[in-house]
Amino acid sequence: MKITPIFALIPTLSVFWCAPALAWWPQGHSIITAAAVESLPADEVPAWFREGRAQIAHSAQDPDVQKNRELAVMNEEEFPQHFFDWELLQGRPLPKSRAEFYKLCQELKVNPSDVGEAPYAIAEATQRLTMIFAEARRWPDNPYIRTKALVQAGILSHYSADIAMPLHVTIHHDGRALPNGKSPRSGIHSKVDSLIEKLEMKPEILAQNQKIAAFPLLLPAIEAQMKDSQTHIDRTYELEAQFPPQQGEWKPTPAVEEFATERARAATGFTASLFLTAWRDSAKIKLPVWLQREK
Ligand SMILES: [Zn+2]
Repeated sequence: MKITPIFALIPTLSVFWCAPALAWWPQGHSIITAAAVESLPADEVPAWFREGRAQIAHSAQDPDVQKNRELAVMNEEEFPQHFFDWELLQGRPLPKSRAEFYKLCQELKVNPSDVGEAPYAIAEATQRLTMIFAEARRWPDNPYIRTKALVQAGILSHYSADIAMPLHVTIHHDGRALPNGKSPRSGIHSKVDSLIEKLEMKPEILAQNQKIAAFPLLLPAIEAQMKDSQTHIDRTYELEAQFPPQQGEWKPTPAVEEFATERARAATGFTASLFLTAWRDSAKIKLPVWLQREK
C-alpha cells in the first residue's frame, strides 16, 4: 500500500492552518531591537544610527501592526513574512531568492504562504537597509536619509527576531502538528511570545558580551540562525507547563528565564550582526548617477 506523506495533504488543508501570531509581543520586539543597537561596535556604525535607538525600537513593532484583516491585500502579503515552516520544503535546500522559492513551492505543491517567507523578508530588509546606508555615506547629514534608515532597521529587526522564536521555524508552531498536518492550537505559541515582555528584560543586559560580526553571505547566515532556532523546539515543548498562563499570576522558573534569555540574546546578536553587515556592505554600493539628494 502506498502511504501518502502528510505533506502531500497539506495544500488542501491550508485554510485550516493558523500560523504564528505576534512573536515576542510588541514590547519584546522593541527590547530586542534596543539591545541590538546597544551592542553595535561604537567605532564603526555612525553615532546618529545608535542615537536613533528609540525610533528603531518603535519601528520594530510595525510588521505586526501591519498584519490586519481589515486591510486584506496588505495582510495577505505581510502574514507569511514572519515564519518559516521548514519541514514543508521536505529537506530541499533553501532557495537563493524569493522567485526560486516560489518555483520550488510550485514543484512541491505547497502554498508559499503556508511555508512562510521569513528568510527572504530578512534578506531583503537587510539589503534595503544596505542601500539606505549607501546614501547615508554619500550624504551623511541628510535628515531624511537618516530617518529612513532608522525605520528600515526597525522593520528588519522585527523579522530577524521572529526567527529566534523556535516555534516560528517549524510546523509544530502551536502544539505538535497532528498527523493530518493541522495545528492543535494548544496556546503554547502565544505563551512563548509573551516571555520577553513578561520577564521585563533589559536591553543593556541583553547587549552585554555579544559577539557582533558582519556576515560574509546573507542567506547562509539566515539559514544558520534558523537551524539554531530549530534546535530549541524540543526544549520549548519540555518547558510548556512552566510558561505563563493566558490569565492570572505567574512566577517565572529559572529554567524558563534561562531559555527566554538565551533566545532573546540570540535574536539580539543576530540582529546587530545584520545591522553591521548592512553598514559594511553599503561601502561597496555604487549609487546611480541620476540620484542627487538634498544637501
Ligand atoms: Zn512577527
